[in-house]
Amino acid sequence: MSVINQLTTLIQDSSRVVFAPDIEEKYLSDQLGRKKGNASALVFVNSTEEVSAVLRFAYKNRIPVTPRGAGTNLVGSTVPHDGSIILDFSKMNRILEIDSENFTATVEPGVILEDFQQYVENLGFFYPPDPGEKRASIGGNISTNAGGMRAVKYGVTRNYVMGLELVLADGTVLTVGGKNRKDTTGLDIKDIVVGSEGTLAVITKCLLRLIGKPEKSQSILVSFNSLQDGIEAVPIILRQNTNPTAVEFIERKVVKLGEDFLNLKYPDPEAAAYLLLTFDGAAAEIDGAIQKLSDGLKDSSRRVMILDGSKPELDAANIWKIRGCLVKAVEAVSEQEPLDIVVPIARVADFVAFVNKLEKQSGMRMISFGHAGDGNVHLCVVRGDRSNEVWEKELNANLEKLYAEAKESGGLISGEHGLGVSKRDFFFAQTPAQNVDLMNAIKKSFDTKGILNPKTSYVK
Ligand SMILES: Cc1cc2nc3c(=O)[nH]c(=O)nc-3n(C[C@H](O)[C@H](O)[C@H](O)COP(=O)(O)OP(=O)(O)OC[C@H]3O[C@@H](n4cnc5c(N)ncnc54)[C@H](O)[C@@H]3O)c2cc1C
Repeated sequence: MSVINQLTTLIQDSSRVVFAPDIEEKYLSDQLGRKKGNASALVFVNSTEEVSAVLRFAYKNRIPVTPRGAGTNLVGSTVPHDGSIILDFSKMNRILEIDSENFTATVEPGVILEDFQQYVENLGFFYPPDPGEKRASIGGNISTNAGGMRAVKYGVTRNYVMGLELVLADGTVLTVGGKNRKDTTGLDIKDIVVGSEGTLAVITKCLLRLIGKPEKSQSILVSFNSLQDGIEAVPIILRQNTNPTAVEFIERKVVKLGEDFLNLKYPDPEAAAYLLLTFDGAAAEIDGAIQKLSDGLKDSSRRVMILDGSKPELDAANIWKIRGCLVKAVEAVSEQEPLDIVVPIARVADFVAFVNKLEKQSGMRMISFGHAGDGNVHLCVVRGDRSNEVWEKELNANLEKLYAEAKESGGLISGEHGLGVSKRDFFFAQTPAQNVDLMNAIKKSFDTKGILNPKTSYVK
């Protein structure tokens, strides 16, 4: 029996182990499917014990391991390397406990975000993290510290992780964090693992914080004559102190792509840009917030539209569907490089103006939209009909300019997608060597042989 074939002896049901060359292509990549790696085996793990056994085996034989949630990342962070074992968590998808007195949920990492949100909302609870891709897994969300639409009010995934069960590279199982709301007992290991892109440990159980479900949620669409007007309205809104849940900006030309993709329509199609907002909370608070918003934007906006479903084009679910499909809508037209640069909120308008200028100078289409309320600018840099060689050369030249401008603005390469394999070179170029060295020293103390997601993210 070859070494890798011994895996079948560690997994209860051998049909849950697939060996190369029978591994389906999608498991060798990410959501975009362009960067491909190679793996020797794919294991659909079903318990912590199985994960621990596979890791003990991989550690002993120095075989790299690639944990995989739903594979929706956009940066190649699930691309396996050098004959990896892929650990797929789709079968570890059980909701284990809802503790309604402590407002917590314990789930396995393969639980799908949208299913979990629905489940807790039916019980009167709310799980706020809300990235655009609702079919991502909770384990993937934690490993990328996923952000999303509601981060303006509620924060990101990290703020809802109270504890984790982890399996270290050598197979050791440990629990970090717990149901306590405060913890100053030594280093917070769970916070080091959140956002580490599967490089430090494998997550096998997640203890999540829930909050009470808001009484009401109301979305509003505001149209503007220019994107600049829309972005300049954001600080006005934030200063009103009405605590919006989401503040998204979208240019009209981008909305059009989403409309064509889904065959749905936004109102006021003559506008150049929109802000899409949500307020949630008590009904009276929301009415007050909407009134303040209308008063504050009456000079700078075209229309303030309450998405209450009173007309077909004012259906909130459809308007959000278009916002949610934008990456896929652009991708349907042309290959593109999705970026998620984050800049301090006061610099968003200048940064988007820079992008528009670069688009004109370079002749490369750049589509921007994103989380205006927290400075996270999503950019799709579009390939069009460029040959491989020209695309690679021009894309790189433009990425260098975009990331340099982000740095100049006090921003970062990634606000929520992570580095994966796609952005690591830019990260190394922009990050002080002592920071990179410290990150790698931490990696070494978790994973002495360097088997977990090597060549990914910050790992040298
Ligand atoms: C249309 C679209 C919109 C998106 N919008 C957003 C957005 O608004 N905000 C946002 O933050 N992201 C967004 N994303 C990116 C993506 O959905 C997130 O990064 C998501 O958190 C990935 O979850 P996943 O389950 O798909 O993880 P995967 O893609 O499978 O894995 C992501 C990383 O997590 C690691 N990992 C997965 N499971 C485990 C585990 N159990 N233990 C240890 N490591 C693990 C993997 O090794 C990998 O490094 C979007 C993606 C798409 C396609």
